[in-house]
Amino acid sequence: MKISHEFIHRRGTMESVDQVETISVPKRVVKSRKSWADILAVSLNVCIILFFYFFETFYVMPQFLGWFGQAVHFLLTTWIAYNILGNLWLCTKTLSTVDSLPPEVQQPMEGEEHLWHFCNICQRTVPPRSWHCQTCNACILKRDHHCNFVGNCVGHNNQRYFIWFSFHAAIGSGVALFDNFLLAHKHGIGFFDLITANLIIYNAFMNPGTQDFVIFYRIISVLGVNIFAVLFPAALFCSQVVTVRNNSVMNNYCDRTYDLGIKNNLTLILGSRRLWTFLSPNIKSPLPHNGTQWKSKRAV
Ligand SMILES: [Zn+2]
Ligand SMILES: [Zn+2]
Repeated sequence: MKISHEFIHRRGTMESVDQVETISVPKRVVKSRKSWADILAVSLNVCIILFFYFFETFYVMPQFLGWFGQAVHFLLTTWIAYNILGNLWLCTKTLSTVDSLPPEVQQPMEGEEHLWHFCNICQRTVPPRSWHCQTCNACILKRDHHCNFVGNCVGHNNQRYFIWFSFHAAIGSGVALFDNFLLAHKHGIGFFDLITANLIIYNAFMNPGTQDFVIFYRIISVLGVNIFAVLFPAALFCSQVVTVRNNSVMNNYCDRTYDLGIKNNLTLILGSRRLWTFLSPNIKSPLPHNGTQWKSKRAV
């Protein structure tokens, strides 16, 4: 495949998206505004993650596993929890704002002015694929969406962390769900009891005080939160898979204007190490460019 380097050669910073070396994420510290919804959602998020990690590892599974099984379960859940919290942390603190770029690239290069557009709120020209976020009060490079659960806009510099955060959150919640079904089964609660849970809880409220009800109510509550904790990040991850496949953004999934093929799309979003970044949020995987220059499919 012949790749046009129309934009990139002008700046002379990159050979191709396959030959990624280093244009690192901007290091300038720029404050981003956090809403109360962000703070509450991130706090809730962290509480749910920590609850399930400790509940499954130190309360549920010791009831079912020997020391070797517990050790394997501990290593697996610790690795998943590390990936969830590490990616969450880096997604929250890594900015993709236009203001976070070095000053010399906050203006279009000569001949690229027509590719930039004016933001009426920021009162400045911004790079292609940048859009204003009302919550962050800033223009975001290749803005995907604002996510309250990571307390930040997902954009060019932090989409990698969002993808693996949602992936590991879905897997971790899936493991927790399996563990919790074992616990439920031990107490005589089957899957279909979840469907009738509301009726049973209502009846139990009318006849309170039995130990069975207390255990039942707790397990049903945990399972309810747990099922949500599987489905929500799984849906987010699936939407991100489509976004990566098309190199599009969340509010326009089907747009394939910037689709350069799956390998190049992965490099543009996950960096030079592509799918290996799923192993750890700390794996270095530089992005091929700073988010101001985008090649369209037509140029390939
Ligand atoms: Zn703006
Ligand atoms: Zn935002």
